[in-house]
Amino acid sequence: MTYNYLIVGSGLFGATVSYILKSRGYKCLVIDKRPHIGGNVYTDSVNGINVHKYGAHIFHTSDKRVWNFVNSFVEFNRYTNSPVANYKGKLYNLPFNMNTFYQMWGVITPEEAKEMIEKQRRESGIINPRNLEEQAISLIGKDIYYTLIKDYTEKQWGRKATELPAFIIKRLPVRFTFDNNYFNDKYQGIPEGGYTRMIERMLEGVEVHLNTDYFGNREYFDSIADRVIYTGEIDRFFDYRFGHLEYRTVSFETELLEGVSNFQGNAVVNYTDADTPYTRIIEHKHFEFGQQPDTVISREYSKEWRSGDEPYYPVNDKRNSDLYARYKALADGQEKVIFGGRLAEYKYYDMHQVIGRALELVEKLG
Ligand code: FAD
Ligand code: UDP
Repeated sequence: MTYNYLIVGSGLFGATVSYILKSRGYKCLVIDKRPHIGGNVYTDSVNGINVHKYGAHIFHTSDKRVWNFVNSFVEFNRYTNSPVANYKGKLYNLPFNMNTFYQMWGVITPEEAKEMIEKQRRESGIINPRNLEEQAISLIGKDIYYTLIKDYTEKQWGRKATELPAFIIKRLPVRFTFDNNYFNDKYQGIPEGGYTRMIERMLEGVEVHLNTDYFGNREYFDSIADRVIYTGEIDRFFDYRFGHLEYRTVSFETELLEGVSNFQGNAVVNYTDADTPYTRIIEHKHFEFGQQPDTVISREYSKEWRSGDEPYYPVNDKRNSDLYARYKALADGQEKVIFGGRLAEYKYYDMHQVIGRALELVEKLG
């Protein structure tokens, strides 16, 4: 065998395992079907601005081990995600906090804000929330629900808020302090110089072949390595034997605005009304406090996934979870191949979770 490990995919999972296996002296080959490394965290420099090609990526974690790991490759800046919501031209701070309550109702103290929410909760008569709409109203009241949640959610998911599970909205913090930090994690930031630089450093000294699809020459690839670490779509690996897993996808309309140094004053602005067709606008330079004379913005349109689209978000409903369980049983029976990462495990992992999983896996490999 030429290699100890063939790693299919140079995303965060593939790059993390490659780095550790290489440092333990194993010979690894990484292949990726895309023309670049990094998978979905890939950033590309446009007029000196690192553009997040596959959507905004903000690193956040409370896991010190993962934080130390990523910081050993690059420095992280102090970026704190504080999106702003634009509802019909009026701006509100997110996540839901004292700034939002002040903007919505003019309330000054946490006591007044709590009273207002409690009043709206009582009026709604909801006791056991059965779906996202009921959950949101009982958490935060109907004014915020109709201004900042309902239409955004329905655009994002392409379904009525009454048909969506309650847990989706519980991901967002509700705070009675003037704190616009979107995350509760201990550590947060953006790698200085972009994610691609971080991945390049993780893959230093590892042989990488781009534009190379594992399925283009599967038998050959299996024959050159003792073991395969596969980070692609699990249903594709088994030739869709039981049918296709579904995803939600996003399309990005990216524009370079020459001579515009600051388009919206924030990295993320959500458009929470129904008439604006996109869900949000990302202005990439603000992730790194950029001072360039130009700017790059991306409008995000959320779409129903069709076979052939980029698989972004796994759909964790019953049909897909059951289907995944059947593929997982097949995967568990494969001795030579190890499955890991967002696509191979069909889980909507954040970056820190993918790294955590990859570190766990290599520990087991010894
Ligand atoms: P991927 O990045 O998908 O990498 C898999 C790689 O395998 C790809 O490069 C692919 O080309 C390659 N591949 C697949 N099949 C084959 C094949 N047959 N042959 C060769 N190569 C193949 N996480 C956060 O923590 N914070 C965020 O703010 C955040 N925002 C996100 C926004 C969006 C729009 C999306 C979609 C995700 C976001 N995430 C975020 C999640 C984050 O992108 C993932 O956790 C992480 O990138 C997954 O890494 P991975 O290596 O598992 O998968
Ligand atoms: N959400 C909303 N309004 C916003 C931002 C988020 O209603 O301005 C809702 C929406 O339903 C979304 C959920 O909160 O799916 C979770 O938001 P998050 O930003 O975590 O979603 P992601 O983009 O990471 O899927």
